[in-house]
Amino acid sequence: MNDVKYIEDLVCPIGKYPLKESGDILECTNCGAKFPVKEGIPLLLIDDAVLPEGLKDHSELKCFKK
Ligand SMILES: [Zn+2]
Repeated sequence: MNDVKYIEDLVCPIGKYPLKESGDILECTNCGAKFPVKEGIPLLLIDDAVLPEGLKDHSELKCFKK
């Protein structure tokens, strides 16, 4: 089952946009950065974020651009 749901209280640490749960990761609905969940604990740190394809640096994330 691919049970994608939105987690109300968790937001992207960069842009404060809501995160979407997808398996073991949380994905920002705005910038697409992916945050790992380890043993049920989301690691919402910019350094742990997995960048969307095509981006080389965290500063290129959409959430950084206002
Ligand atoms: Zn974001």
